[in-house]
Amino acid sequence: MGKQENSVASHIPKSVPPFVVAAEPARIPVIFVKDSAQIDSVIFANQSFLSLTGLTHADVLGRPIAAVLGALTDPATLTKIGKIMRAGPPAVWEMPCHRHNGSAFFVSVLATSVCSEKNEHLQTCLSFYLLDEGFERLLNIPSEARAIYEKTPGFIAYGEGPEHRFSFANESYKKFVGCDKLEGLTVAEAMPDIAAQGFVAVLDRVFQTGEPYRGESVPFDLPDRESGQKVRRYADFIYHPIRNENRQIVGIFCEGYDVTERRMAEAKVELLQAELRHSSRVNAMGTMAATLAHELNQPLSAIANYSAACLRLIDPADEKAALLLEAVRAINVTSQRAGNIIRGLRNLASRRESSRVTFDLKTTLEESLNLVRSGMSRDITAKIDIPDGLEIYADPVQIQQVVVNLLHNACDAVRDAQVKEISLEAVAAGREVEIIVRDTGSGVSVEAANHIFNWSETTKEGGMGLGLSICRTIVESHRGRIWLQETSSTGSAFHFTIPKSPMPLSDKRSGKIPKI
Ligand code: ADP
Repeated sequence: MGKQENSVASHIPKSVPPFVVAAEPARIPVIFVKDSAQIDSVIFANQSFLSLTGLTHADVLGRPIAAVLGALTDPATLTKIGKIMRAGPPAVWEMPCHRHNGSAFFVSVLATSVCSEKNEHLQTCLSFYLLDEGFERLLNIPSEARAIYEKTPGFIAYGEGPEHRFSFANESYKKFVGCDKLEGLTVAEAMPDIAAQGFVAVLDRVFQTGEPYRGESVPFDLPDRESGQKVRRYADFIYHPIRNENRQIVGIFCEGYDVTERRMAEAKVELLQAELRHSSRVNAMGTMAATLAHELNQPLSAIANYSAACLRLIDPADEKAALLLEAVRAINVTSQRAGNIIRGLRNLASRRESSRVTFDLKTTLEESLNLVRSGMSRDITAKIDIPDGLEIYADPVQIQQVVVNLLHNACDAVRDAQVKEISLEAVAAGREVEIIVRDTGSGVSVEAANHIFNWSETTKEGGMGLGLSICRTIVESHRGRIWLQETSSTGSAFHFTIPKSPMPLSDKRSGKIPKI
C-alpha cells in the first residue's frame, strides 16, 4: 500500500486538491484539467485513464487538453469537442478514439466542474465511460465502489430500456425526487409528478434520438420527503444515452446536482438589484418632482387666478356666454387639481405627510372615473360599483391620482381587445377599504408582472413606466398595499387597500412616509 501511495504522490502536483487523490484508484478513467485564460492543461490523470488510452503520464500531464484529446480522436471530432468545452461544464459528448497500437474504442465523456467550498470553479473533471462494453460494466462495479456512488453529493441514476426502468438510483437522487423506492419501477410509475411535468417525454426523446439532454436550473415540482407537500426545486443535470456493444441504446444515465440553494440566492440578488434600481430611480424622480413642482407652481397659480378673474368677468345671465363659462370653470378646476397634484408630488418627494382627511369614497371615485371618461375612447364601456357611506382616511388628491393612473392603464390595455370593458369597485375589508380596477385587456406578461410596481420599462409608446411606481409609493405612504391580483389573456385586476381611519400612534412606527 505504502509503495502505491508513493507512486500516486509522485505524479500528482501540489496544486491538485487532496480529494483528487481519491480519483487515482477509481475504475472510471478520469482526468483533471486546470482552466486558465491562456491554456487549459491536464494536471492529473488516473491509472484507469492511462490503461484505457495507452497514453503515459509524460503524454498527458502539463499538456494542453486539446493536444491530449487530439492524440485520441480525429480532427473533426476535436473541433466539435472544443465548442462543447468552451460552453463550460457540465457537458457530455461521445468520442471515437484510437490507441497508438491502432486499436479503436468509443467513449462517452462527462465534463463536470470541481468547485471550491465557496462554489468557485477550480478545475474541470473529465470522466470517460467506455461505451463498447456497455453500461453493464459501470453497474457491475464492486460493491464498495457502488457504495461510493450511493453517497456522492451529486445525484446519479440509471433507467433501462424504452420505459426507463430504474436499475440504480443513489441517495442524493432519491432525496431530490422525494422517493425511496425506485429500483424496478419505471420513471412514470415511480414519479407521476415528473411524468406530468414532461420529463418522461424528454427521456423518450433521448432514447429515440441518442442525443444527450442537458438542463440547467430546471424547475421540478416534487413532494418533500418529510412533509409530502409539493416544493419547487432546481437541478442542473444530464440525461445521457448508454449503448450496448452493437451501438444500440439500452438505457439512460442521469447525473446532476441539486442547485436549489444557488438558484434561491440568485433570485434574492436579482430582487435586491431590482429594488436598488427602483430606489435610485425614485430618488431621481424625487429631485425631478421637486424641481417641477417648484417651476410649475407659479404658472399654475397664475392660470387659476386668471381663470377665476374671467369667471367673475363673465356675466352668468348672458346665455351666449354659457359655453364659455363652462369652459373657463373647467380650466379653473383643472388648474387647481394640477396644483394639488404638484404639491402632493413635492410632499412625496420630501417624504412629508400629505394632507389627510376622512372622506366619502363614492364621490371621489366617481369624480376620478369622470376625469378619465372625458378622454376615453367611446367604444370602451366603464362600470362603477361603490357602496354608499364608505369612508377612508387619506389624501383625496393622491387617491384620485392612483385610481386615475390605474384607469388610464386599463383603458390602454383594452384598446385592441375584442371586449373593451373597464370597471371600478370598492369593498369594505375589515379596518381597510379595498379598491379594484379591472379590465378586459390582454393582461400583463409574467416577466413584467414581477416588477410592475417598480419603475421599469414601459410597453407603451408614450409611456414612462412610472405610473404604477407612483401608485405604489402613494398607497404605501398611506399604510396600504397594492398588488396585481389576477392577469390573463382576457384581462387584469389591480387591487389596493387604504385604512378606513387614522392608524393608532403605536401602529405608525416613524409617522413618516415609508421608504420606497
Ligand atoms: P406606463 O403606463 O407609463 O407604461 P405604468 O407604470 O403605469 O407606466 O405601467 C407599466 C407597464 O405595466 C405598462 O407599460 C404596461 O406594459 C403594464 N401595465 C400596466 N397596467 C396594465 C394593464 N391593466 N394591463 C396590461 N398591462 C398593464
